[in-house]
Amino acid sequence: MLTSYHLNIKMIEIIIASKNEGKIKEIKNILNLPNINFLTYKDFEKWPEVDENGNSFEENALIKAKALVEAFNKAALADDSGLEVDVLGGLPGIKSARYAGEEGLAEKNNAKLLKELSSYSFDERTARFKCCIVFTDSKNRVIVSEGVCEGHIALEMAGSGGFGYDPLFIPLGHNKTFAEIPLLKKNAISHRGIALLKMKNLLKDYI
Ligand code: IMP
Repeated sequence: MLTSYHLNIKMIEIIIASKNEGKIKEIKNILNLPNINFLTYKDFEKWPEVDENGNSFEENALIKAKALVEAFNKAALADDSGLEVDVLGGLPGIKSARYAGEEGLAEKNNAKLLKELSSYSFDERTARFKCCIVFTDSKNRVIVSEGVCEGHIALEMAGSGGFGYDPLFIPLGHNKTFAEIPLLKKNAISHRGIALLKMKNLLKDYI
């Protein structure tokens, strides 16, 4: 069998800036290039605490990735994502995780969203999930990719899969929420899946 050693391929190490196991698995699955060796928080004794105080998904992803490069002097990849609802002027946006309070509970966030949208018809509830992925290395090279998934906010919650706003988000061209769609299918059309595929191509050029 030919290994990367026999093929003389340069291996690069990339730290994934997330403690979410589902996200780590999705990132590894999609960015499955032979010369990338992914590291996670499990490979390090100390993990930097980061204040995500940026004004955009991109700024927040960059803050997370840079914190790891500074701490470990290795390349890092971070993502930041959220939901934008048009009639709410783009909210919850970068506040998606804590829309209903600091505890960051999905049930409370979803309940608040339904309440805020109670006077709007289905057609008026246009929304999108956005994801920004940032790769950066110790030479300060930065690669950015973005993914968007358009859809509507449902009139009521449906489905038990996924996480966050999944029970309320119906992607365009579908009649089921993300929480009712099998995970592999969701990943194929989701903001994160799209951003990761773009990042895969950009990383091929980088390597
Ligand atoms: P993060 O970028 O993973 O920290 O996501 C921020 C927040 O956006 C999450 O806590 C969720 O509320 C929301 N979010 C991001 N992506 C998704 C998704 O694919 N489904 C449901 N909610 C999401």
